[in-house]
Amino acid sequence: MGATAWLSKKLPSGKILCEACAQACKLDEGEYGICGVRKVENGELKLLVYGKAAAVNVDPVEKKPMFHFLPDTKVFSFGTVGCNLSCSFCQNFDISQYPQEHDHKIFGHDLPPEMAVKLALEHDCKSIAYTYNEPIVWFEYSYDTAKLAHENGLKNIYVTSGYETRKAMDYLAPVIDGMNIDLKAFTDRFYKELCGARLKPVLDAIEYAYKKDIWIEITTLFIPGQNDSEEEMRQIANFIASIDTAIPWHVSGFYPTYKMLDTKPTPPETLLKAYEIGKSEGLKFVYVGNFNAPEYETTYCPSCGYAVIERSGHIGSHVKNHLEDGRCPKCNTFIPGVWS
Ligand code: SF4
Repeated sequence: MGATAWLSKKLPSGKILCEACAQACKLDEGEYGICGVRKVENGELKLLVYGKAAAVNVDPVEKKPMFHFLPDTKVFSFGTVGCNLSCSFCQNFDISQYPQEHDHKIFGHDLPPEMAVKLALEHDCKSIAYTYNEPIVWFEYSYDTAKLAHENGLKNIYVTSGYETRKAMDYLAPVIDGMNIDLKAFTDRFYKELCGARLKPVLDAIEYAYKKDIWIEITTLFIPGQNDSEEEMRQIANFIASIDTAIPWHVSGFYPTYKMLDTKPTPPETLLKAYEIGKSEGLKFVYVGNFNAPEYETTYCPSCGYAVIERSGHIGSHVKNHLEDGRCPKCNTFIPGVWS
């Protein structure tokens, strides 16, 4: 069952290589990929969750978080079960790890691409977000939906761990307008031990998405004792700045969940330190999430300091957008982002 997972190829050995993500699973008949939702059946790779949404919501776009992308609009958001990573601190482990932890069972409501687009339009959303679990594992479903969304005047957002292959990114670039990419840490140890992944593919995916002209924002969740040293904060900020100092960096705090119930929540001073380090490394837009402090959620014009987009309340739920065609109303500087 399931749709053809066409982002794959047959190897001379007879195995099927999945070309969606950097896990690069090579699968024999009957085998599942690490994500638990791609499986070889009758000599072909299948996507088992095509048209099966496990979580659906209409959210403010600020919640993704995307702060330089159609501010103060609604985004139709959905995801499936399954994930190519296995983060011990996953906030959505009940869907992301479901197939892996339930003998490859899947669940989800029928939501074919046509219905997702129809519902997005009915709910007055300006975009669709592929989110909650890692969308690259349901590449074909997200791609078909994004294409249809574009044809209907909607924009598309990928909320991702940045494990896309270049080939996947080449397909996504024409249909995905924005990506929020996690840069979870700057050590391979963190990715290996806590996520079942590696650091380098993530750095490559961020650079490549930028090169492909996809609007990107980066998120880092700081976990006490794991990725919150000043040195690591500086490495992350420096890496982002080396690509473009205008890439927004969202720093956010951990709370105990899933396999990390014994780790303490992130203290506010850690987030403020990351904010200061981001600024000192030259990043123009650093935002502190889960903090409820308007001054750390507001977008300031990098030229004159004017508050061009004010945000306050839970996850920036109150937004006042003062931009005029993406420009600061005081000094006319263009603020990088997707504004229309
Ligand atoms: S998307 Fe799934 S099957 Fe494909 S390479 Fe990644 S983990 Fe493996």
